[in-house]
Amino acid sequence: MALIDCPSCNKKISDKAQSCQHCGFALGEADAEDIARKLSLNKYLKNQRIQTQSMVAMLLFVAGFGFMYWGGATPGDLQHNLAIGLAIVGFVWYIVNRVRLILLKRSD
Ligand SMILES: [Zn+2]
Repeated sequence: MALIDCPSCNKKISDKAQSCQHCGFALGEADAEDIARKLSLNKYLKNQRIQTQSMVAMLLFVAGFGFMYWGGATPGDLQHNLAIGLAIVGFVWYIVNRVRLILLKRSD
């Protein structure tokens, strides 16, 4: 018995299973075309999710950065440190999402 990724929810399931125990996707009835369509839909949705996340990350970065400069907080303040933290988290998160997008595109 081997484990494969469910084409619908990407969880590990047995290749002998007729349907996914997690999402109920009927493997037995799905032909290769169905599975391919489902996979590309999944990929599209994943892509959209990453895009959304990188936009949120960008907003965090801009908000943190903006507050650092125009928020009136002086260096050493808790607020100033928070703003720097926010900008760093936003920046790192943004980079991570860009890398994830590249990896997703490469897996075509
Ligand atoms: Zn599933």
